[in-house]
Amino acid sequence: KMIYLKDYQAPDYLIDETHLTFELYEDHTLVHAQLVMRRNPACGAGLPPLVLDGQQLELLNLALDDRELTAADYQLDDSHLTLQPTQERFVIDSSVRIHPESNTALEGLYKSSGMFCTQCEAEGFRKITYYLDRPDVMSKFTTTVSAEQHSYPVLLSNGNPIATGSEGDGRHWATWEDPFMKPAYLFALVAGDLWCVEDRFTTMSAREVTLRIYVEPENIDKVQHAMDSLKKSMKWDEEVYGREYDLDIFMIVAVNDFNMGAMENKGLNIFNSSCVLARAETATDAAHQRVEAVVAHEYFHNWSGNRVTCRDWFQLSLKEGFTVFRDSEFSADMNSRTVKRIEDVAYLRTHQFAEDAGPMAHPVRPDAYMEISNFYTLTIYEKGSEVLRMIHTLLGAETFRKGSDLYFARHDGQAVTCDDFVKAMEDASGVDLSQFKRWYTQAGTPRLEVSESYDAAANSYRLQFRQSCPATPGQAEKLPFVIPVELALLDAEGRELPLQLVGEDKPVGRSRVLQVTQAEQAFTFLNLEAKPLPSLLRGFSAPVKLSFPYSRDQLMFLMQHDSDGFNRWEAGQQLSVQVLQELIGQHQRGEALVLDQRLVTALRSVLENASLDQAMVAEMLSLPGEGYLTEISDVADVDAIHAAREFARSELASALFEPLWARYQANRELSRSTAYVAESAHFARRSLQNIALSYLMLTGKAEVLAACLEQFEVCDNMTERLAALAVLVNSSFEAEKNEALKSFAEHFKDNALVMDQWFSVQAASTLPGGLSRVQALMQHPAFTMKNPNKVRALIGAFAGQNLINFHAADGSGYRFLADQVISLNASNPQIASRQLGPLTRWRKYDASRQALMKAELERILASGELSSDVFEVVSKSLA
Ligand code: ZN
Repeated sequence: KMIYLKDYQAPDYLIDETHLTFELYEDHTLVHAQLVMRRNPACGAGLPPLVLDGQQLELLNLALDDRELTAADYQLDDSHLTLQPTQERFVIDSSVRIHPESNTALEGLYKSSGMFCTQCEAEGFRKITYYLDRPDVMSKFTTTVSAEQHSYPVLLSNGNPIATGSEGDGRHWATWEDPFMKPAYLFALVAGDLWCVEDRFTTMSAREVTLRIYVEPENIDKVQHAMDSLKKSMKWDEEVYGREYDLDIFMIVAVNDFNMGAMENKGLNIFNSSCVLARAETATDAAHQRVEAVVAHEYFHNWSGNRVTCRDWFQLSLKEGFTVFRDSEFSADMNSRTVKRIEDVAYLRTHQFAEDAGPMAHPVRPDAYMEISNFYTLTIYEKGSEVLRMIHTLLGAETFRKGSDLYFARHDGQAVTCDDFVKAMEDASGVDLSQFKRWYTQAGTPRLEVSESYDAAANSYRLQFRQSCPATPGQAEKLPFVIPVELALLDAEGRELPLQLVGEDKPVGRSRVLQVTQAEQAFTFLNLEAKPLPSLLRGFSAPVKLSFPYSRDQLMFLMQHDSDGFNRWEAGQQLSVQVLQELIGQHQRGEALVLDQRLVTALRSVLENASLDQAMVAEMLSLPGEGYLTEISDVADVDAIHAAREFARSELASALFEPLWARYQANRELSRSTAYVAESAHFARRSLQNIALSYLMLTGKAEVLAACLEQFEVCDNMTERLAALAVLVNSSFEAEKNEALKSFAEHFKDNALVMDQWFSVQAASTLPGGLSRVQALMQHPAFTMKNPNKVRALIGAFAGQNLINFHAADGSGYRFLADQVISLNASNPQIASRQLGPLTRWRKYDASRQALMKAELERILASGELSSDVFEVVSKSLA
């Protein structure tokens, strides 16, 4: 069943107070709810029936204003409880029985590694009690949790603890009160045997806040990095957005079984343990940075999400796009800004652009959905963040801040829409954003074609822009977007020239933001004595596919000279794409592959440039991935893409052996002589060391193998160890590979997160026989389909990263994935639906693969009772 934005109606009733009591037992849980309700005064007269949401609840008692109701007084179906109020104000008391102990969907109240925890966003609260489970119903919550004391010494919920007590029968209880009104999706409860690390933060108005991170006892040595990240986040939000924390206590709990990354429940964030736990020996640099970013993201939601929340789920990007933008700026401030931008753009272009071009394409503010869980997407999150970044670019940092201040002041305590956000930005800036808002309503990735002409007689240079946007499901025609294009014009030495447009009496800056607002539009620059070279879309100022007819020599020039670090990297990517596409063509024509030596020259000068940030060197050495090469192809030739990229990598490795080896050894020496530090200069050094190693191993030289084995064995951190393991796994040194895998598993068998990495590097290995390796690993004692991290580590990594094996011409990869989706559909629909992604991209492939992929989608469709999650994705993919 489809839900439409246009059908939105304000709730008939409001819930002023919510009083919950949970009695947790091993074989069931009782939930008592007292709802203090009233007719919504905004909705006119009369008392319509009250329709409460509820799923998988066993109703034990129901009372209206202390009057016990009998079955004749209400109607029950599998998702609603309907009854008739008799007054404007009334109180509902209900008791239900639920079964967290057998909840494998990990939505609502469930058990993970012996502890009770919750995930209510988006619509999980209705699996806990009968309620108006929609974000525009906000209530003041009081929660009492009762459980057996020995197994569940820690009892947590939102807000502040106000009372605790013992029940005398080995059970105890605690009551929590959250003074802030909130929708049910922000409710949380935790009960377990947990330890915590405690710290303090003093806010800008000198309020003292207690900070606690709760984990299983054996992980207590892995929380310091998350705690440091939390304090940095709190400080940053005060400094950059003027946002202060508002309760006396802020808690994070790490759980092992979690469908997503983390959840911003008021005062009680619940995290996937992979986004909390980090220490040198067990977590890579990337994991450390992810922990920092996710801690910040969930903390920032306290304002962008909780204090100001969403009116309905179509507005999800209101909080998610904004909060991703906030966390990415935070990460940019904590680490290297340029590197963070490169990582985000590479990710967006590979994955979000693919989503935008596929059957599930939807606008940043969708207007229809079947299952809201399917809309926690790259479009809502990452493209949503790009939309906010464009507003920031158009308005400037200072005006953007005025707009966000106005937004928070105007809507504190409310559930609002994306329109309300844009309105605040308009009111604070005086800028009309009505055309800009098409970014919220039109799906698809715009294309921006740019051409140039230079008039030597007039000393003028003209850039002609043509924008278009491909059709997406339900949207055949698109209107022009507002596309901010930051650009500079470079002279023959790479210096930025003064920019004077026709109509301007003097130059205005040397790097500026033009707004392309029409389907075709030209800008003419004056007073240019020679034809300049444009540096376009600096910092990736808009999420579009830009094309400009650069020659390879011009791209090499930009790689060296562009003063915009992002565009230096981008020039290298475009050069690599051109070179790789040439190799792909050669492979398809059955010709011998010949690498354009200009790529070697360009990367040699990058490697030999000692003044470049090492993380930039590492990024520039990374060739565009097979996923990105697939995304930019009309029909992706899996084998040719893989062969071309592997050929280029091995040619580069031999041609650049000396500088790679020198860079490797210098950095490895530093790693050997300094203790691990989780800071960006060290991340940079190790990332160059590890990418150098991955190239060097392609040469098969004995001294490289020896270095790799030495790095694997003698290091104090997971970044070096895992990188060495990954290159061994992708090599043909069978004995060394097997020995390394064995010793690694032996050493880390009790650490689930490290074992996830061990599964992942093997699942992603592109050597032949990938599927049978994955099938064998599914039998490993550390693997289980019940844990989403394991599913992602093995099945997700195989289907999402190991393209050459997943797309095996016989369809075995597709059949395998469909089998896993069918099995997950019954246990965990959200995870099942997410694993489906690679199969939905069938339009990208040749006819024979298309047929095989579609057949598997059909088989899933016919496999029995499908969850709404899986049904929506499969049916839309086949439509
Ligand atoms: Zn979020």
